[in-house]
Amino acid sequence: MIVTITHIDISRIASHLNLDAQGILKHVAFYQVVGRGYEKLVTPPVTTTRGIAYLGLLKLQDGSCIFLSKDNKCSIYPARPSSCRNFPFTFQLKNRWLYQGISVRAKEYCKGLGKGRKISEKELEKQGIKTIKELKEYENLVSKWNDLALKGQINPTPQLFIEYLLSRGFLNLSFSFL
Ligand code: SF4
Repeated sequence: MIVTITHIDISRIASHLNLDAQGILKHVAFYQVVGRGYEKLVTPPVTTTRGIAYLGLLKLQDGSCIFLSKDNKCSIYPARPSSCRNFPFTFQLKNRWLYQGISVRAKEYCKGLGKGRKISEKELEKQGIKTIKELKEYENLVSKWNDLALKGQINPTPQLFIEYLLSRGFLNLSFSFL
């Protein structure tokens, strides 16, 4: 499973680990979108010099998350991405209605399913609204970025994209071709 991330997650992890864009790049990956993969994406595809891809946490060779410690704990727990915070819940906005569900493969991944504190409807709704707002913001940032890349106004390198996200969409275009 790939943990997709947004600008909010990137900023949270960067400030928790005191990382700049280069440091962040060592912990994330641009996963290629293949075939009809677009339809299943939670986060929008990003145009990069390595092709069209979506951003997620780097997975190690055994498939585990880069932030999973040897004792099976999350090494960035206070700064973990929103999708990890939400798991196993998923949220979607359809026709202005907020839908919540449970990840189809949750049983495979989550041994604690059904064992933790009961989450109230109100809490879920609050978390859902927050998640949708974050995704919309990220979609807008990515759409602006893809547009700049399409018009040839930036050289869409992965590092520039991370810098762009960390600056919440501010790009000094005079430096973007470096
Ligand atoms: S909770 Fe932590 S270790 Fe688990 S997937 Fe999320 S970031 Fe990685």
